[in-house]
Amino acid sequence: MATAKTAIGIDLGTTYSCAAFFRNNKVEIIVNDQGNRITPSYVAFNDTERLVGDAAYNQAPSNPKNTIYGAKRLIGRTFSDKEVQQDIPHLPYKLVDKEGKPLIEVDAKGDTLQLSAEEVASMILIKLKERAEEVLEREVTDAVITVPAYFNDSQRQATKDAGIIAGLNVLRIINEPTAAAIAYGLNKLDDENDNNFMKRSTSTAIAVKSDKSSPTAKNILVYDLGGGTFDVSLLRIDRGVFEVKATNGDTHLGGEDFDNRLIKHFSEEFKRKHKKDVSTNENALSKLKRACETAKRTLSTASQAKIQIDSLVDGINFESSITKARFEELCSDLFKSTLEPLEQVLEDSKIEKFGVDEIILVGGSTRIPRVQKLVTEYFGGKIPNKSINPDEAVAYGAAVQASILVEDETSDVTADIVLVDVNPLSLGVKVTGDTMYVLIHRNSTVPTKKTQNYTTSDDNQEQVSIEVYEGERIHVSENNLLGNFTLTADVAAGVRGDITIQNESNRLTQEQIQKMIEDAEKFKEEDESEAARVKAQNELEQVAYGYLDTRNAREISEGSKAILKNACDETIEWLENAKAADTEEYIERIKYLEDLSAKLDNEGFGTNGDGPHVEDEEEEEDGPVILDE
Ligand code: AMP
Repeated sequence: MATAKTAIGIDLGTTYSCAAFFRNNKVEIIVNDQGNRITPSYVAFNDTERLVGDAAYNQAPSNPKNTIYGAKRLIGRTFSDKEVQQDIPHLPYKLVDKEGKPLIEVDAKGDTLQLSAEEVASMILIKLKERAEEVLEREVTDAVITVPAYFNDSQRQATKDAGIIAGLNVLRIINEPTAAAIAYGLNKLDDENDNNFMKRSTSTAIAVKSDKSSPTAKNILVYDLGGGTFDVSLLRIDRGVFEVKATNGDTHLGGEDFDNRLIKHFSEEFKRKHKKDVSTNENALSKLKRACETAKRTLSTASQAKIQIDSLVDGINFESSITKARFEELCSDLFKSTLEPLEQVLEDSKIEKFGVDEIILVGGSTRIPRVQKLVTEYFGGKIPNKSINPDEAVAYGAAVQASILVEDETSDVTADIVLVDVNPLSLGVKVTGDTMYVLIHRNSTVPTKKTQNYTTSDDNQEQVSIEVYEGERIHVSENNLLGNFTLTADVAAGVRGDITIQNESNRLTQEQIQKMIEDAEKFKEEDESEAARVKAQNELEQVAYGYLDTRNAREISEGSKAILKNACDETIEWLENAKAADTEEYIERIKYLEDLSAKLDNEGFGTNGDGPHVEDEEEEEDGPVILDE
């Protein structure tokens, strides 16, 4: 029986995003309109339109200033945030400080547009949502979206807001490593018909209903090396509840760094051979970048890759090749640098490397054999789980979670699982010495209640300022301040005080979200109108070239053929000059050609070559000649 709703799982990535849904006991990855299973997290603007996904990515080299990527690095952060400040020099687009929020400034269709990271993320989400609707042939509103385990409340809320702007009902935000682990739980069930793993390996947010499966605790290490970021997390699953024991990584390490090593290698070779500098030529650099990424991917399955670029600089073609061994050597220090966070995670979670029960590889860059070997060797030959495509595992798990949340009746697998919400980061207050006193530990089920007695630092102190933080660090200065309040009550007096903390300092207001929803609608209309315009333009081209090609085969007089040729030539010339005419104009011209063609077929005139004349210069400038007027 089909469910009334289908909820999708979305991995909203820094460089690529992926969406999936769960139907009839299996997960299906949503293939995008270009036939790709993952979609670049790119949004771009040009003089005429907005592009999202592959289209935005493909035009990036020629339009870097108005091509936005990596919005995930900005989401839920303030402009002054250290990470944001470090990123600014490397961003091809402009970032502006708007009341503490980083906004991306681009030229869009002749206007200057300032977009928040939430808005950009929402554009990617809309793209995925719309594609899901096409594939599922129904409206899709419910979704589970994943975020890195280290995302704080503000980043999670901002991601949720992006979903709201996109018209999604965000059922839950879950941790990426948790989603990956859920994916593997299911995978084992499918492949080995062994549902014990599934029952034990659900998520932070899932607990098993019955205790029958007598769970044993399991340690799962998730090694996630993507396009721009590296995350490693240690999850512990105990009685069906996932706990992120520790997480670490490098926010600037991933596939792009390996691409850059190749770019440097080939730029040097080109300089040696041709005495030309590629590094200062934006256009050449982006051509080389594309070729290097392709070569890198090739080297994951072949021992050698060729590079072939026409007219790299000053008309010089570039041809070269690289071996897998050389590539591995070029990136060896980068690969090895992933071991340090890995070690740290084990240390923080107080687990020996041999105490890790499962290793999961996530992220496109874990396809690199050398990376797989490194992890395997580190764990003394233990083979990582990699049967699910590493760039799809997170979306896969999110889809399973989404299906559980909408109680997919078609699912036998998810039927006996109940859900428990947990807080992802510890909550505490500042005590003397800048220290974080944790009151509610991370992964506590929500709602929760904790009581703690505190004394004032001085005797007879009349009031105390309470600062509430989230985070895992010992010093509050390294955690995230959620809010503060002052208590003037005294235990002895029996007076109570209460406070509601709403972490909205950096959040979009309800009005801003509403405005962005309206803007999203406006963008949608503009996109549709542009799509209709391009469609009409293509149709006119097809009609004109079609008549031109087939005119001689028609059973019409030579005079009529000449008339048709003239009309088609005139149209083609007009098409070449009129780059962005209105949809109506194209449609009018299509109709004109079709009417003319029909009339000529009927030989209504022109049988002796003296039919209506369409070559009038003045008329050409004014648009199509309407013959019967
Ligand atoms: P993700 O963000 O997880 O989708 O990972 C994207 C990164 O994975 C990009 O840098 C890709 O170039 C890289 N990648 C994808 N497929 C391969 C492959 N077969 N070999 C090496 N790197 C790959």
